[in-house]
Amino acid sequence: MKKRTVWITGASRGIGAATARKFAENGDQVAVHCYQNELAAEALCKDISENGGSCLLVKGDVSKSTDIKRIHREIVDVFGGVDLLINNAGIAQQKLFNDISEAEWQRMFDIHVKGAFLCTQAVLPYMISEKKGKILNVSSIWGVSGASCEVHYSAAKAALIGMTKALAKELGPSNIQVNCIAPGVIETDMLADFDEDDRRVICEEIPLGRFGRAEEIAALALFLCSKDADYITGQVISSNGGQIT
Ligand code: NAP
Repeated sequence: MKKRTVWITGASRGIGAATARKFAENGDQVAVHCYQNELAAEALCKDISENGGSCLLVKGDVSKSTDIKRIHREIVDVFGGVDLLINNAGIAQQKLFNDISEAEWQRMFDIHVKGAFLCTQAVLPYMISEKKGKILNVSSIWGVSGASCEVHYSAAKAALIGMTKALAKELGPSNIQVNCIAPGVIETDMLADFDEDDRRVICEEIPLGRFGRAEEIAALALFLCSKDADYITGQVISSNGGQIT
C-alpha cells in the first residue's frame, strides 16, 4: 500500500516535532517544515531516519508564498502529492492590546492565518484530484475563549477556526476532512516567557492539575488523520485538561 505523505509546519520543536515523530512511527512519510531552527529539525530528521522512518527536511517562512510554493515542490518531488497537511506553525506574544504594534498584529495573522491559507492552497489540487485528504489546523483554546493580553493571538486562532469550518463545508463533497485542534496549555518552548509563579497560577486553572504534553496533541492529530476519523469534519477538538469545556 502507498505510504501517506504528511506535511507538518512548525515541526522543528514542540507539538510539531512530537507530531512528526508520531506519524513517522505510524509509517507515514513526513515532511518536517522548519523556519529558523534548522539544527533542531535536522536532529529530528536524523532520529526519525535512524529509527526506520521516512523524513524530508524543508525550510521556509510559512507566510511567504514563494517559500511555500518551493517547499511544496520539494515535497512532491521526493514523496509525491501531500495526503495530510498539519498547519501547526505558530508564534505567541503576551502584550496589552494597546501596546500591540500594527506590524505585530500583521505578523500574528500572517503566520497563523495566511500560512494556513498558503499551505492549504498548495496541497488542495492533488487532494481534490485524489478525492481524499485531511487538513488539520492547530488553533488554541484561546481562539475559542479569548485570552487577556493575547488579543492578536486569540483573534488569529479564532480566524483559523472560522477557516476550518467554512473549508470543511466546501471540501466535504471532495471527501476532504478539515478539522481544528485547540490545545490547552502544552509544555513547549511557547511557555518560555512564563516564570514559576505564572506557571503555578495557570496550572491552578486546569482541572487535571498539569500542563499537556506535546505527545498528547500528536496522538490526537494522528487519530484525526486516521480512517477512524473519516466522518469527522469541520470540528474543533480541544485537548486541554478541562480548562475550557
Ligand atoms: P513552539 O515550540 O514555539 O514551536 C513553534 C514552531 O513554529 C517552531 O517549529 C517554529 O519553527 C515554527 N514557526 C514559527 N514561525 C514560523 C514561520 N514564520 N514559518 C514557519 N514556521 C514557523 O510552539 P508549540 O507550542 O509547539 O506550538 C505549535 C502550535 O500549537 C502553534 O500554532 C501554537 O500556537 C499552538 N498552540 C500551542 C500551545 C502551547 O501551550 N504550547 C497551546 C495552544 C496552541 P523554527 O523553530 O524552525 O523557527
